[in-house]
Amino acid sequence: MRMNGYQLETVVKLVSGIKGRSPFYAEKYRDVDTDAVLTQEDFERLPFTDKGDLRSAYPLGLAAVPERDIVRIHSSSGTTGTPVVIPYTRRDVEDWAVMFERCYRMAGITEEDRIQITPGYGLWTAGIGFQAGCERLGAMAVPMGPGNTDKQIRMMQDMGSTVLCATSSYALLLSEEIGRRGIRDTIRLRKGIIGSERWGEKMRNRIAEDLGVDFYDIYGLTEIYGPGIGISCDYRNGIHMWDDYLYFEIIDPVTGEVLPDGEVGELVITTLRKEGAPLIRYRTHDLTRIIPGECPCGSRFPRIDIIVGRTDDMVKVKGVNMFPAQFDEVLSSMDSASGEYQVMIDHLNGRDTVTVFFETAVPEADRRSVEDDLVARMKSKVGVTVVAKAVDEGHLPRSEKKTNRIFDNRY
Ligand code: ZN
Repeated sequence: MRMNGYQLETVVKLVSGIKGRSPFYAEKYRDVDTDAVLTQEDFERLPFTDKGDLRSAYPLGLAAVPERDIVRIHSSSGTTGTPVVIPYTRRDVEDWAVMFERCYRMAGITEEDRIQITPGYGLWTAGIGFQAGCERLGAMAVPMGPGNTDKQIRMMQDMGSTVLCATSSYALLLSEEIGRRGIRDTIRLRKGIIGSERWGEKMRNRIAEDLGVDFYDIYGLTEIYGPGIGISCDYRNGIHMWDDYLYFEIIDPVTGEVLPDGEVGELVITTLRKEGAPLIRYRTHDLTRIIPGECPCGSRFPRIDIIVGRTDDMVKVKGVNMFPAQFDEVLSSMDSASGEYQVMIDHLNGRDTVTVFFETAVPEADRRSVEDDLVARMKSKVGVTVVAKAVDEGHLPRSEKKTNRIFDNRY
């Protein structure tokens, strides 16, 4: 995506001043002439920033302002070792709330609404972001945090909550509980704000229907403000991103090369206005693509696709990057496939082959057309020609983790 004039001007200013403000970048860019970054191409040669780099700045080494200007910190832990601490100035906190208010408005939520917030409050950024955006919008916050289903449902009934903010799995749990108690007609929910993750379209539609809500996917990460840096609109065809606060790139996660719009790769984000801890070319490790063209909703904000996976899950075959989510998606679009599958990638006679074993209830004599259907769908959706092998239901091993369904036998 080409930078617009505002983005380029802001990025050039940000980069040229960063060594003077941020000890972290002074060290990281020791060998970079930051005053020579004047064009988008110059910018695209700057080294990436990764989560591992941020850890090394613990506790407050990321601060690009005097510590007295820091009004809040958030932290992401990850599974290993030292946490990452992100300092926020007063303006950062305000900017985040402005973006979050936009998210609510994009989802058609108004000051008349009552927003039940079930993500957690604390070091991690989730709950407090939902809260600040809600208060800025002027809606009524019902700040629950996670868990305690009895109380969640009681408050939902008694406060007349109209919006539910939750993870998809928690929305499912609440929806099942409401169904079990037969109290659906006492619930006034009309919208759901759900963290962006790819989950089965069928399941998602069922939860939305059971709860009587429209779902919107919200995106964000603790290192870059938190949730609320983008959200889907009524057309649910991607996530509109607030490009006046952030600049987005999609890169090939292996080569680091910037990819053209429309191609799937790793999302990389640069903060345009952040004071406390500005980040330049931060690797999110989330896989998505920039959706070219205008959205029918008329919003001028560009879109990325729903996150299709993490870079760790990716495999490259015949020059094409593939992700478990793409197999899920293709198979769940086929009525004749059960959804269970296993993918074998081999290197035979000098070329890569991808064999997709999938379960079906279709009798053996009629499987040829189902296999051909899968091959055609994979070709059009992913761009790779696969070998399809239909097998009986219950034939493939079960696994909790989707990543365990792809076996790369080439190396
Ligand atoms: Zn739209």
